[in-house]
Formats: sequence, C-alpha cells, structure tokens
Amino acid sequence: MAATHFRTCNLCEAMCGIAIHVDGGRITSIRGDADDPFSRGHICPKAVALQDVHEDPDRLRRPLRRRGRDWEEISWDEALGEAAERLAAVQKAHGREAVGVYQGNPTVHNYGSAIFGQFFIRSLGTRSRFSATSVDQLPQMLASLLMFGHQLLLPVPDVDRTRLFLMFGANPLASNGSLMTAPGIERRLKELRARGGRLIVVDPRRTETAAMADLHVPIRPGTDALLLLALLQVVFAEGLARPGRLGALADGAAEVETLAAPFTPEAVEPATGVAAAVTRELAREFARTEPAVAYGRVGVSMQEFGGLASWLVNVLNVVTGNLDREGGAMFTRPAVDLVAAAARVGQRGHFDKGRSRVRGLPEFGGEYPAAVMAEEMETEGAGRIRALVTCAGNPVLSTPNGGRLERALAGLDYMVSVDIYLNETTRHAHLILPPTDALEHDLYDVVFHVLAVRNTAKYSPALFDPPPDARHDWQIFLELARRVDAAKGRGGWKRRLTHAALRRLGPSGLVGLLLRAGPYGLRRGPVRGLSLGRLRRAVHGVDLGALEPCLPERLYTRDRRIALAPERFVRDLERLRPRLQHGANGLLLIGRRDLRSNNSWMHNSERLVKGRDRCTLLMHPDDAARRGLQSGGRALVSSRVGHVEATVETTTDVMPGVVCLPHGWGHHRDGTRLRVANTHAGASLNDLTDDQAVDALCGTARFSGTPVDVCAAEGAPRA
Ligand code: SF4
Repeated sequence: MAATHFRTCNLCEAMCGIAIHVDGGRITSIRGDADDPFSRGHICPKAVALQDVHEDPDRLRRPLRRRGRDWEEISWDEALGEAAERLAAVQKAHGREAVGVYQGNPTVHNYGSAIFGQFFIRSLGTRSRFSATSVDQLPQMLASLLMFGHQLLLPVPDVDRTRLFLMFGANPLASNGSLMTAPGIERRLKELRARGGRLIVVDPRRTETAAMADLHVPIRPGTDALLLLALLQVVFAEGLARPGRLGALADGAAEVETLAAPFTPEAVEPATGVAAAVTRELAREFARTEPAVAYGRVGVSMQEFGGLASWLVNVLNVVTGNLDREGGAMFTRPAVDLVAAAARVGQRGHFDKGRSRVRGLPEFGGEYPAAVMAEEMETEGAGRIRALVTCAGNPVLSTPNGGRLERALAGLDYMVSVDIYLNETTRHAHLILPPTDALEHDLYDVVFHVLAVRNTAKYSPALFDPPPDARHDWQIFLELARRVDAAKGRGGWKRRLTHAALRRLGPSGLVGLLLRAGPYGLRRGPVRGLSLGRLRRAVHGVDLGALEPCLPERLYTRDRRIALAPERFVRDLERLRPRLQHGANGLLLIGRRDLRSNNSWMHNSERLVKGRDRCTLLMHPDDAARRGLQSGGRALVSSRVGHVEATVETTTDVMPGVVCLPHGWGHHRDGTRLRVANTHAGASLNDLTDDQAVDALCGTARFSGTPVDVCAAEGAPRA
C-alpha cells in the first residue's frame, strides 16, 4: 500500500523534516516536508542516502565473526555472549582500563545509541573512553564548561534575527550548520542580507559560505585566537565595549582588557595575514551593529589554539552585549532539556580530572583525546588498551594519523564493533554487531534540539519493521551490559531489575519521561502538556517558539555568573604569545566538507559519490607553479606521519601557503565491504594529520594547519 511518512532526517545536524513516499514496501521518493515548522521544506542532496543505506547490499544485517581473512555469520545469542565474555575476560586479566571504547559521530544522531551506549560503558567501568568529540567540538564545550558552568550549554547564533553574522572557520552551506541546527541555512543567510544585515566569513579558504558573504577575510590557519584578541583590543581601546545587562552578570572584563592589550591589529598581522586596517574595521563594525553574533566552528576548534579561540568568540559576544540577546548568541530551551537533566544528576561536565597514561593529556567529560588511542594500545604497562569496542565510528579515517591507528588496531587482543558496515576500522574487529538502520528505528533528536536556532520538538516513528532477527543499537548495548555484568558476577537482583525496566521503557519511554519533566511537560511554560503521545500525533513536529533570553537562570556556574577570564584560558595565552613572531612559512593543510558527503560513512551511496572527483587538493596557482604542478596533475602530499596522492585543483579560493583536502576519504584499504566507496576511494586527510599535534590545552586534534610538503607525484605530468 502506498503511503507518505513524515519524519526527521538524522544524517546531519540540520534535523530537516522529510516526507518519504513508500509504495509496495519500497521508497519511491524522499522530499522536504513543507509543513515541518522548523525546516519548512528544506532538504539537501544527502537525504537520499537514507534510502541508499537502507537498501545497500553491503550493509551488514547479521553478526559477523572473523575467521582468518574471512567472515562468518553467527547468531545474535552467540555473538553477544562471545563479546561480553571476551571483554570481561580482558578486564579480569588486565584491569578495567584494558578495554577501550570509541563512539563515532553517528552516535549522537541516534538517541537509542546515545542513551543506551552509556549503560554499556558503565558496565565496563573503563576510563579508556574516546569519541569524535575530541576531533570536533571539544574546545567549544570546554569554553561553555569554564564560562557558563555546563559543557552542554552551548551558545547558538540567532541567525534569523541578527544583523551581523561574523563567522570563523565555518562553512554551513556545505555542513548545513554545526553547533547551529538551522535547516535551510542558505535561505536564512539570504534573509539576513535581505533585511539589511551582513555576513562576514573569516576563513583561509573562500568557501561556499564565504562566496555568498558581504566580506571574506582570509586568515592563516590556526591564528584565529590572535585575530580575536586583536578585535577585543580594538573594542576595549576605542571604548566600544558595551556589555549592557551582561556587565552585571559577568566577571573578568577588566582582566580580558589587560590581556588583549598587547595584541593590537598591527601586532597580529604578520601571523594572521589579516591587514591591521581590516581588523580595526571589523572590530568597529561588530561592536556598533546591534544585534550581532560571532560564531566559530571546526576551523576554530580543531586547531592548535582551539580552546583559546572558542573562549574568545564567547568573550567577544559578551563584551559587545551580544550574548543572550535576540539576534546574538542565545541558549535553547529544548523540550528534552539535556542540559538541565544532566545537571540534575550532577553531570555538568568536568575537565582534567585525570590524564592519559602515556602522554598525559587531560580528560574531558570522562573521555581522553582520540589522538592518544594508538599510543595507549601500543605502549606496554598497566592500563594498556588490549581490547576495543567501536560504536558507529571509523577512527582510521576520522582521527589523526589513521595509519598508526590501524597498525595499533591490528595488534589488539580483541575488538568488537557495533556498526552497519565492514569499513576501514571495523575490518580489524573480531566481531561486528550490526544494528538496524535509521529507517528501521524511531527517533527523537535529544542532542540537536539543544543546538537549534529555534525551539521545536519532533518524534519520528520507525518507517520499516526491522527483520525478525535484527537488533536496535539500544538493544545491543543493553544486552551487552547485562551479559558483561553477569560475566563479572554483578547480576544481582537490583541490576536485573534495572535492565528489565530499561528494556521495557526503551529510548522512547525514557524520552517520554524526559519530555514530561522538561520545560513544556508538566511544568508551567508557554506550551504545556507536551508528551510523547502528543508528538506522535503531530507528525510534522511542534513549534515551541523563538529562542529567548534566559540568563542568569540558565547559568550553572557556582555563583551563577559568567566567567570571562577562566584561569585555564588565561594561562594558555602564554603558549600563544610566541606565535606573534611567526610569519607565513611553508604549506599548511586544512580540511573541507562537501554538501554531498558527511565524514566517511556515506561514500557507499552511488548517488552521492558519482560525478567529478571531489577529493582533490586545492592549491593556490602561485604555490602550484612554484612546485611545477598544474590543475588536473597528481601531487604527492607529505607530512611528518605519512603521504598521500591527490589530484591538484588550482584555485585562488585558497590563500597562498594553504592547501586543502576534504576529510572522510581513503577507501582503498583491502578487506572492507564497501563496493561503491572502493571505486571512489580518494585520499585520507588523516593519513597526513599528526596524532602528536594537538591543542595542548585540551588534546583536540589539530586538523587545521598541518605542515605539509607538496610535489609532483612520480610520473605525473608537470606544468
Ligand atoms: S541538510 Fe542534513 S538533515 Fe537536512 S536533508 Fe540534508 S542531510 Fe538530512
């Protein structure tokens, strides 16, 4: 029977409402849902991947166990039993930390996995935890923790009401918005300009977003913190600081003024490459425009000074009065209020409560930086990681020095992966447990409503019944937790009761409770009585209104005040100061994202990867000519840790001294089961990025600004 189903696309952060037409059990079309109050019909080319992944013959549907170089299908009972026993045995022999866990980015797009994965990790009781956070937004979460008292209380740019949007290292036209859930971001940015507002993009590359901006300011990779300090210096020196009501809520403005004083536009120009006059004008325009918002993303967070830059973006918003105001950087009030719920159980986040065993990098939120995973597997001694669980992740392609990591994975005693693909990482597993795909389970987006530019809520029921012997992620994690507990002799009645209750509730039951406890549930609020039942009936979703000022009530610092000059950041400035002396020197590699790609895992969709080669090396024509390279020729790119070959694409869109390669590619490895991706292999950016190159403050990988050499590949035509 033909029917149209409405749901949320969970492939990226944008949470677009989609209408999927199904006829005879097969998808015949995927369109944007014009009645979704948040996305209003927007959709991007990636949405078809929902169908392609669902129907992909390479997607795993039953547990696979390695047999030498081959794989055999086994039953769920056998697979879950073996995984739990082997993991428990490793912990018994070598201690709890001997089992590591890596959670990939898709985890946060799947509430079953995000919530129930925690129960499994708790059963393991290991501190050897890693996730995509430390190769992404960790510095921004750190800034929120140290300034606002909660690692999840992230400011979101109020794009729909601002008059000046100042963007650092972000390309939402390709990413569809990140830490800024804003479906239809191109339309929103056009509307900003149509109402007389301005868009300014600071980025080493003239990205798709920079190309539509009023002003593009090219900047040397990794120097955003210097530019931000210079902007603050001008704001203070010219008497442009106007924090408004935030002045009474924030401490440390005078200290920031003193700290920023030496970083004049002239002083930072040699390092940033941004002319002092441009910096001054930028500072003046930002301070004088009301409302305005500064926002930074991956180019700012994944670099040597990502923590400092993320902090300074927030400071700039505060001292100009643009935090917690309409059109500025605001906080959400989501229906499932993860921020409040976490705080209620004492989970506001923490930092540096422990250090990694080998290199001594700090933990954040209970996880160590992914950059230390390989060394923690290779280095002998108590606490060495001997077994690993990966969940919806491909760290060989997505974490720094993937080559070293895959060598370390090959040396593990045991590895189990909860994943739908046999990919570059899971090929090293001894056992793969494939959960249902996105259309076979329901969805409430618990994470990205927290980051949305408008408060909305939407529940998506499963579109297809899973096969009878399939398992959802949450069922896999819960069963693993139960069996690990039993193997450790902790299967007492309390645990059994907890597991039984969780099994009965499932993720939707838990979210139902959280909705009732949230700001639109039983409590008083603009919308009352929001429940899972009500969301089930509202198939297009529910609009809960625009973001509203909420400080100081929403602050979680002990004194309910904003800390403008946290000691950790102030001390880290010592590390930045010497960078004032550095000018341009050598080639620096940056990453990029493409609208048709999302990290590594959608490259098995023919519809998304067909057409021209997207994994090209962008290079300024002057840099190319100096090396005898021309567009279309093959180049050898080398870094301290490895080398790759890529096709050169010369363009003045990248500034001289910068080369750019997209991330998520490198599907040439043997032993995967990704037939489409194999034929569009590309080169892996993370065969070049360096696991030793991190933001020393917090351990986040330095993806933006890897020093590289580029020359013609052997046998390649030269200019
Ligand atoms: S923008 Fe993101 S959420 Fe929207 S259709 Fe594309 S992939 Fe899905």
